[in-house]
Amino acid sequence: SLRVLTGITTSGTPHLGNYAGAIRPAITASRQAGAESFLFLADYHALIKCDDPARIQRSRLEIAATWLAAGLDTARVTFYRQSDIPEIPELNWLLTCVTSKGLMNRAHAYKASTDANEAAGEELDAGINMGLYCYPVLMAADILMFKAHKVPVGRDQIQHIEMARDVGQRFNHLFGAGRELFVLPEAAIEDNVATLPGLDGRKMSKSYDNTIPLFEGGAKALKAAVARIVTDSKLPGEPKDADNSHLVTLFDAFANAEERAQFRADLRAGLGWGDAKQRFLAVLERDLAPMRAQYDELMSRPEHIEDLLQEGAAKARAVATPFLAELREAVGLRRFN
Ligand code: ATP
Repeated sequence: SLRVLTGITTSGTPHLGNYAGAIRPAITASRQAGAESFLFLADYHALIKCDDPARIQRSRLEIAATWLAAGLDTARVTFYRQSDIPEIPELNWLLTCVTSKGLMNRAHAYKASTDANEAAGEELDAGINMGLYCYPVLMAADILMFKAHKVPVGRDQIQHIEMARDVGQRFNHLFGAGRELFVLPEAAIEDNVATLPGLDGRKMSKSYDNTIPLFEGGAKALKAAVARIVTDSKLPGEPKDADNSHLVTLFDAFANAEERAQFRADLRAGLGWGDAKQRFLAVLERDLAPMRAQYDELMSRPEHIEDLLQEGAAKARAVATPFLAELREAVGLRRFN
């Protein structure tokens, strides 16, 4: 069967972009016959950009509750926290030792930070920790550990998947003795899934504090966030440029084809931004309101979520423990008796 793996960094409150770009497609895929899904909370990754323990802890709970409220079925899916699988950091080390430093120098996440430092006239590596620098190796460990075939990602992550392939291939070549120890993963680019813009028009991202939270704060917070989406200053009655509107991109992610066409037509005919936002809120609530009730119920029972994650960790480790033993042998870490 086809193994699909998806993770979400636990560095903040889950938002509409996470839902439309990752959670919703992953759950749909997990229901397909012949698919085997590994969905995890990337809490080691979160430590790269967040040193606030309360935020990390809260985010892990919120993100777990979000997946469950969105319909993740733990009987079908292996659902776990990265930090509950000690084999992952161990594999991370094995992979680190076959990863060339030059490859990491070229990684997007790191390059973006050095470029920003350069533009600001700062020291190139200012504020960059080794976690960020080596993050593609940890990501490779996440993926290769479970022999995932497909990793659904946004375009910005394609390069990191290619790096996971490179590192896996090199390890196979050095230590496989003719066998393919690792499955080489492929990026599954969801072309129909748009990158959702945040309140300020940049990519909606937990790190930019520009998000529309999915459930936190309830219907009231959702409404308040929608009111803050940037639009141009055209008045009701004036024709709007529907092709260059963040609100339209957001609307599209939650509406059906007919609603999308109607929304554009009405904006061109002068629909006011206030009314347009009301209409967006209505399609959002249609999806989110039933899930929000589930979410609130789950958040009131963290011990239940913990039980589900412990079961998930046991399932994941049933795969990881024997595989890591095989890998340790392959590199020459074997018992003497
Ligand atoms: P961070 O700022 O911590 O990187 P993030 O909010 O950008 O967080 P991640 O946790 O890195 O999101 O990504 C989880 C998943 O959500 C990924 O598959 C990513 O492609 C998807 N995703 C994140 N932001 C968006 C967005 N604005 N539009 C569509 N998909 C998104």
